[in-house]
Amino acid sequence: MGANMLRSFFIQISKVKWAQRTISRNKLAWRVASRFVAGETLADAVQVVRDLNGRGIKASLDHLGENTASREDATRATEDILAAINQISQVGIQSNVSIKLTQVGLLLDEELARQNLARILESARETHNFVRFDMEDSSCVDKTLALHSWARQAGFNDVGVVIQAYLYRSEQDIQALSQLSGKVRLCKGAYQESPQLAFPLKKEVDQNYDHLLDQMMEGIQQTGGLPGRGGQIPPGLAIATHDPARIAHAIQTANRLGVSPETFEFQMLYGIRRDLQDQLVAQGYAVRVYVPYGTHWYPYFMRRLAERPANVWFFVTNFFRH
Ligand SMILES: Cc1cc2nc3c(=O)[nH]c(=O)nc-3n(C[C@H](O)[C@H](O)[C@H](O)COP(=O)(O)OP(=O)(O)OC[C@H]3O[C@@H](n4cnc5c(N)ncnc54)[C@H](O)[C@@H]3O)c2cc1C
Repeated sequence: MGANMLRSFFIQISKVKWAQRTISRNKLAWRVASRFVAGETLADAVQVVRDLNGRGIKASLDHLGENTASREDATRATEDILAAINQISQVGIQSNVSIKLTQVGLLLDEELARQNLARILESARETHNFVRFDMEDSSCVDKTLALHSWARQAGFNDVGVVIQAYLYRSEQDIQALSQLSGKVRLCKGAYQESPQLAFPLKKEVDQNYDHLLDQMMEGIQQTGGLPGRGGQIPPGLAIATHDPARIAHAIQTANRLGVSPETFEFQMLYGIRRDLQDQLVAQGYAVRVYVPYGTHWYPYFMRRLAERPANVWFFVTNFFRH
């Protein structure tokens, strides 16, 4: 099976309920998934963040969950996110939170999602923290950007969004966000999208990543950019990738344009390229690791398998060895 077919297989199966039920209950699957997931509880995640902070790395906690099917589940997920924000401030770790709007009800009722989001943003404001809205599949992009604009207009400044380099529309979205001085995390994109909406070839996605990054760096050069504050509030630009070529390009562009490293940070996922995380810290760059935790790890795990065929092999051999 080619890498593209494998990718689409795992992304399709990430949405299949019976596969979710079977795999989520399987201890061996959890053993492999736990390479990418900090644990099932908030306490597990806090311990991981402490360890990261000890290595000079900041974190973003992600309470796993998406496409919530009932209002009650959306409210429960909101409470869990509030608990994470509260815990960060209580124990004094360097972390903010990343949330998925479909977890707090975006697909059920946009008004419900906005109300849940407002509770989260109030709590983050009270504890001087920051909330990043992860970007989900292309059907959510307009709604996510609209809620981000709403949040900014409502006076919540410590919020940010994600732009996916695989989408053709991203260049325009970045221009609109720069008018708002929006904080952006740039990633390649983790979902299955049609060639009408997204670059189908990895090479094209990589090229667009560099292109969008150049534009954002030029924006920082002109405006001075937005530096981060403490461990919680990130700078205006987050470069989210484990791809050494993209990272090298970003560093080269920043040096060429004289952009201060205070105005950007690198972000990576828990369990991936720890060596590169430490290397960037040693070079004096800010690094933040995305730390997912909770019981709803199945779709997140499937997307991580989709990204790298070697992970699938690792999973399959572990699955059948026991
Ligand atoms: C902090 C962070 C936040 C993100 N938020 C979002 C989001 O909100 N929305 C969204 O759509 N996507 C998000 N992503 C995922 C992103 O879109 C990509 O799917 C993912 O990062 C893989 O792409 P890459 O840039 O690492 O490049 P690739 O070219 O995919 O990978 C480069 C190298 O990184 C390593 N690597 C990458 N993935 C894996 C893996 N799964 N397992 C083991 N090694 C791996 C390998 O060494 C690989 O050669 C996020 C990624 C990061 C790092």
